[in-house]
This record gives sequence, C-alpha cells and structure tokens, in this order.
Amino acid sequence: MERGKLIVIVAPSGTGKSTLLEQLKKDVPSLEWSVSCTTRPMREGEVNGKDYHFISKEDFLDLRSKNEFVEWAEVHSNFYGTSKPFIDKGLETGAHLLFDLDVQGCDSMRDIYGSEANIIFIEPPSVDELERRLRARDTDSDQVIQERLNNAKKEILRKNDFDYNVINDEYDKAYTRLYQIVTTILGKE
Ligand code: ADP
Ligand code: 5GP
Repeated sequence: MERGKLIVIVAPSGTGKSTLLEQLKKDVPSLEWSVSCTTRPMREGEVNGKDYHFISKEDFLDLRSKNEFVEWAEVHSNFYGTSKPFIDKGLETGAHLLFDLDVQGCDSMRDIYGSEANIIFIEPPSVDELERRLRARDTDSDQVIQERLNNAKKEILRKNDFDYNVINDEYDKAYTRLYQIVTTILGKE
C-alpha cells in the first residue's frame, strides 16, 4: 500500500487559513482533516470534534503524558496537540492527511517526517491588514488580538523556511494557488 501524503498548512492567526481550508476540504474530499486537541475556549460557530476536540488543561496534560500527541505546542497561552494514532493509522492506510499547525508544529513535523511533510505557509498581505481581519472577525478580545499580532510578526520571519508560499491578498487568487499546490502534491508519486 502506498503511504498517504501529509499536507501541513501554517499561517499567522487571522490570515484567512480557516476560510481557505473550509473550501479546500469541500473541493478535495479525499483529504482527511486532523482534528487537534486544544485547551482554548470554543468560538461561536465552532463545533466540538469537528474544528477541534475542546478539552480541559488537565485532560490535555493527561493525554500528553500518555504520548497521545505526535507534537504539541503552547500557542497564545493555550495548548494544542496533534493525535499520534490518527497519523499512524492514516499513513498505514494510504490516507492523505491535512493539518493546521503553528510554526512550532511545522518544525516538529519536519523533524519527524522529513520531506514527507509538505508544508505550505500562507502569509497575510501586511501586518496592518492582518490586524484589520482579526478585528473584523470579532471573535477575540483586544488583548488576544495584540498577542496574536505579536506572534504573527515572529511567524512571518519564518515564511521562507517551508516548501510552498501563498499570499492571501485577493481571496480567489490565493485559493486557486493553494488548490493547485495541494492537487500537485496529491498527484505526485
Ligand atoms: P485564520 O484561520 O487564519 O485565523 P480566518 O479564516 O478566521 O483566519 O479569517 C480571518 C478573517 O479574515 C475572517 O473574517 C475572514 O472572513 C477574513 N478573510 C479571509 N481571507 C480574506 C481575504 N483574502 N481578504 C479579506 N478578508 C479575508
Ligand atoms: P486558533 O486558536 O486560531 O484556532 O489556532 C491558533 C494557532 O494554533 C494556529 O496557528 C493553529 O495553526 C495552531 N494549531 C492548531 N492546532 C494545532 C496543533 O495541533 N499543533 C500545533 N503545534 N499548532 C496548532
């Protein structure tokens, strides 16, 4: 059985990654979405078990001690982790897996899976536009937005360290490029 592909998407918070991924999941149904565990509070519109497994910090630390996470990171003062059994099973059965991780998660995936991890960095047109999008989304407090912007500035410095880049300026153009990159990866032997 041919091993499945690993596709990892990384973008500073507010870039538009979730919006792009929602469409990608519909257009490429063969991709299996990796549902991470997180200790952050659920946002309006999010569904437990679909967007994330929303769990307590205590449960997160328990799972972590049982080596249930292939990687985990503390992002914006919350914990996030990727299920190891999900990846092991997916790779064995030839499934194509899609991940939404921060840069620390990308670095871990690179360390563990080497060139088997296909990492796509999505960047905002500018930090000012990123701030505008975070405010327009209206899901986070001023303090959380400030934390996300400070983190974004650091993440943008890493934009050339991965396999592919997409600038999410005009949405349709960005989506077309993302779709083309992903279908090229899936088509590769
Ligand atoms: P992320 O998942 O990267 O944190 P979201 O997908 O939640 O970001 O997008 C943040 C906000 O920006 C949302 O309100 C979304 O509708 C908007 N958005 C996404 N892409 C674009 C774009 N290309 N131009 C303008 N606004 C966008
Ligand atoms: P958000 O709270 O906006 O959904 O996500 C915040 C950040 O955490 C994003 O950069 C997202 O990619 C990242 N993230 C989500 N799940 C995981 C995970 O399992 N591991 C890591 N390392 N980062 C994650």
